[in-house]
Amino acid sequence: MTETLGFIGLGIMGRGMARNLLKAGYPVHVWNRTAARMDELAADGAQPTTSPAALAAVCDVIFTCVSDTPDVQAVILGEGGVIHGARPGSLVVDMSTISPQVTRQIAAQLADHGVGFLDAPVSGGSEGAARGTLSIMVGGDAAHVERARPYFQAMGQTITHMGDVGCGQLVKLVNQILVVINMLAVSEALVFAQAGGLDLEKTIQAVAGGAAGSWMLSHRGTQAIVRDFRPGFTIDLQQKDLRLALEAADEMGVPAIGTSLVFNLYRALQRDGLGDQGNHALIMALERLANLTVGAPR
Ligand code: NAP
Repeated sequence: MTETLGFIGLGIMGRGMARNLLKAGYPVHVWNRTAARMDELAADGAQPTTSPAALAAVCDVIFTCVSDTPDVQAVILGEGGVIHGARPGSLVVDMSTISPQVTRQIAAQLADHGVGFLDAPVSGGSEGAARGTLSIMVGGDAAHVERARPYFQAMGQTITHMGDVGCGQLVKLVNQILVVINMLAVSEALVFAQAGGLDLEKTIQAVAGGAAGSWMLSHRGTQAIVRDFRPGFTIDLQQKDLRLALEAADEMGVPAIGTSLVFNLYRALQRDGLGDQGNHALIMALERLANLTVGAPR
């Protein structure tokens, strides 16, 4: 039996993901807070709805991809939220990046209504969302994961069931810790190379193939040395995820020394109005300390 799908949140990520579900042939109902954003999807065959509750009332599986923890709480538990329309036996799949702890609370409230839940945050950016190549990190019951698997396959390439509810969000934060501390290493190394008078392009070529190589060095390092700070992922969004990582580390009682260092460096850049720049603009924080500009003629 073909299930009817719902998608809530048609932002940079959600609109590509919803479109890929339509392309795979599934019936998709959509809701977005700014209603005009539904027009584009409606032209592709989606059914616009008037509220998350109204959407949930006609859908079997409901996906959400909105900004932050309170926004997911609003669309699922708030006035006119999914919980007020969802039928017992339906499944809610949250693909936003939010707090693992609040994720577990939302799942428990839905369970009281007989509604299943998966957390399924993603990495791969807007390109991955548009092309259907996202990495999807899933927490929740194995049976729910199998039910959602065909839909995940329409939106992503790597689907990993990590464990119970909340584990998808936790591993997404692991991803973010690795990304930013890696970018700190790239930034420090390139400032050092600049100070030493090295050819930066050659420097990256020389080290990228060895143990020091990384995706951040090859992609974002290469952009940084030509002063291209256009965002794949903005500093503002990165800060949201680092705040979540720091809160989770605090709850678990583990150190997050590198993460907190990068969080504070990004905060300084945000204060300078650079929050809309790509996360690789982290290098600017170290340039200020070193009083030099990476990529500047020597
Ligand atoms: P975005 O373009 O800013 O879109 C945010 C979406 O959430 C919009 O549809 C917005 O509605 C909706 N929204 C926000 N607050 C809401 C509220 N209180 N009630 C109802 N709707 C609300 O963000 P995005 O880049 O698509 O990111 C969505 C999620 O994916 C975030 O959790 C983000 O961390 C995660 N993510 C993003 C990327 C990336 O590269 N962008 C990569 C991986 C994961 P309006 O249209 O009305 O504003």
